[in-house]
Amino acid sequence: MAELSAKGSVAHDQHQRSAADRLARRWGENIVLAALVGLGYFLAARLSIGLVLKPEGVAVFWPAAGISSGVLIALGSRRARWPVAAGVTLATIAIHQLTADPLWAGAALGLCNAAEALITAELIELYFGANFLFDRVVQVLGLLVAAIIGTVISGIGGAVTYRLFNGPSAGLLTTWEHWFASDAIGIIAVAPLVIGLAAATRQPPPRSELIEGVSALAALAVMTGISISLPEDSWKTVAPVALLFPMLLWLAARCRPVFAAAAAFLVSMSVVATAVFGVGHFGDAGLAMADRVAQAQAAILFVALGAYVLAALFAERRASETRLARANMMLERERDNKLMSAQAITAAIAHEVRQPLAGIVTNASAAARWLGRTPPDHDEVQAALKRIQTESHRTSDVFDAIRALFRSGDQGRQPIDVNAIIREVIESLSGEFKDHAVEAHLDLTELPLVDAHKGQLREVIFNLVHNALEAMDGTTDRIRLLRVMTQRRDADAIKVLIEDSGPGIDPQKLERIFTAFVTTKSQGMGLGLAICRMIIEQHGGTLSATSDGKNGAVFQFVLPIGSITAHTE
Ligand code: ADP
Repeated sequence: MAELSAKGSVAHDQHQRSAADRLARRWGENIVLAALVGLGYFLAARLSIGLVLKPEGVAVFWPAAGISSGVLIALGSRRARWPVAAGVTLATIAIHQLTADPLWAGAALGLCNAAEALITAELIELYFGANFLFDRVVQVLGLLVAAIIGTVISGIGGAVTYRLFNGPSAGLLTTWEHWFASDAIGIIAVAPLVIGLAAATRQPPPRSELIEGVSALAALAVMTGISISLPEDSWKTVAPVALLFPMLLWLAARCRPVFAAAAAFLVSMSVVATAVFGVGHFGDAGLAMADRVAQAQAAILFVALGAYVLAALFAERRASETRLARANMMLERERDNKLMSAQAITAAIAHEVRQPLAGIVTNASAAARWLGRTPPDHDEVQAALKRIQTESHRTSDVFDAIRALFRSGDQGRQPIDVNAIIREVIESLSGEFKDHAVEAHLDLTELPLVDAHKGQLREVIFNLVHNALEAMDGTTDRIRLLRVMTQRRDADAIKVLIEDSGPGIDPQKLERIFTAFVTTKSQGMGLGLAICRMIIEQHGGTLSATSDGKNGAVFQFVLPIGSITAHTE
């Protein structure tokens, strides 16, 4: 008894220690993030101090706003909210200490800057979910609207603070206008680059795209230099943006949106710098500073929005091209492998009905034996017939399920809570988790209901989890961990990721495993993934796998939320 309670308290201590370790690590990460964001914000803001308008004291371009909201959107507002807010506030206080402003004013402006990033990122997350990739036109417009709302609100706080410490010389409305314009443009010019870079580190572009993108950016830099240094007369005949357009179009058409974002950033920075330092067209000394600024802001807005819209349009086109190619491939596969699919269906049916049929045969022989006795045992015969009846019903259920699988259309779909299905599947496999010594980690975000066939979706999740469990049998050098994550992909889709720490899959063979009868298991049929992909595609979604061939595999599927409406429209 004493030993038991000692063990209990050791376990309790260990549990507390690992909880304390986790907490310390989380704090450590948050402090590093706050310091990095603070430093980035401080440096960007230092840049803008040369761009301060008098007497209001507001800078004409505030790229720092793009850093804070960009980081917050890229990392997810819920995770990075407090570290980013702390970094931004402290950086603003530090900047205002350098310009000898009162501490309270620095703190108040810091809070306004932090609130601006929080509002912008929160609005994005609310509408588009945590995975904001900035590759659709609606997302470009979304960022524009969120940036406007965030800066309209933060500008009110900023204008009031400047009024309080600069006195009436700072016109409230003018200060607000400058704050709003410089911060909104700062966000539009910089945040997409931060978001794109974060996405590119998670999923790096192929080398060819990288080389092409960087060359086009270099060419654009040269073009920007030429167009900005053109004498004023030429501007009247050659629209400057027309000069930039071919490069922007090239970047947008051939590379992912991060390159267009980098292009917009580059042009914005050049335009602002030349406007402020009196160089070239935008720095025309004959114009009042306010006019120069307005002209520069209009140019930035034009180039940036133009580049983003183009990039998003091309990204959309590329995505639909991929979908089309896949649909084509499916069609071809279906046509060429008619025989194969017939074989697949037969194999699936045989696999599923073998067991109930064997039960029927056994019970029928038993019934015959009981009848052959003298006197015949009617009770036993009746019991055997009852079992035959149950097994026959099971066989017919199996046929229904298989028919539903190969039937097109939306019959049997209903609003489904995907998280609940995941929990159900993990629960039903709890024995196997123990047998395979695998730890399950669920990271489920609240999701809207999805129109789907419940049994089929359960089959997909079951198959993916079961494959992962089996794959990890060979893992001995690291912890066997299965992570299931759900995320809101954007306004109209959800994403489920199933990640294991098994041996992974050779990247060259990733697509092949979805083909029927491809298996590496001695007892495997190689049908699971082919059927899973078929189910997900019938629901209007996509199923794919990624792996480096060493450190586990990630299977992920995306499902549209309203597939019923989408299908019947
Ligand atoms: P089966 O399980 O009958 O082999 P599947 O279609 O479900 O059929 O899987 C096909 C093949 O894909 C498996 O044999 C295995 O080699 C590979 N595979 C599937 N999931 C994983 C995973 N999580 N890790 C590594 N390999 C996997």
